Amino acid sequence: MTPEHGTPGQKNFDTEPRFIADRMHGTLTRYLRFMGYDTTSANGLAEGNAKEDTLLLELGLQEKRILLTRDAELARRGRDRAVLVRSEDVIEQVQQLIELGLIKRRVMMSRCSLCNTPVREAFECEIAGADYAPKDWRGLSFHWCEQCKKLYWNGSHGRMLEDRIGGEKEG
Ligand SMILES: [Zn+2]
Repeated sequence: MTPEHGTPGQKNFDTEPRFIADRMHGTLTRYLRFMGYDTTSANGLAEGNAKEDTLLLELGLQEKRILLTRDAELARRGRDRAVLVRSEDVIEQVQQLIELGLIKRRVMMSRCSLCNTPVREAFECEIAGADYAPKDWRGLSFHWCEQCKKLYWNGSHGRMLEDRIGGEKEG
């Protein structure tokens, strides 16, 4: 309903896979956003809907999203538009999606991990106004979520994530 085209100068995400995750996958949702993948979550829907499974399938179809679920019955209903997530460990979940050829091992910092909105380059006043920002800006690039008014930067968090999902380097 509200396709995100990104702001000028940003990468075009139209050819990338998009995901919708069930309530079991809040952490995976945040990881996928950090990896630059447009991912919505059942956690963003009103609770107590007895037909939520059907709603997730419909949203997946409408918004061309692949459903990520731990529910075998739901995955079966979603057929080739759904992935039955095997592990409870988020790194293994990411690994499964990589092995399926759906995503690439990368960290993009192009989306807000809280709300999925594409972030834009931050203005100096926004960096200066965030008391959680590092005081030394050298070598860092800062991004801003208009929706959450949240600042992101490519510091230790990005590197930690790269290390965690960068399993190929081991051994
Ligand atoms: Zn946000």
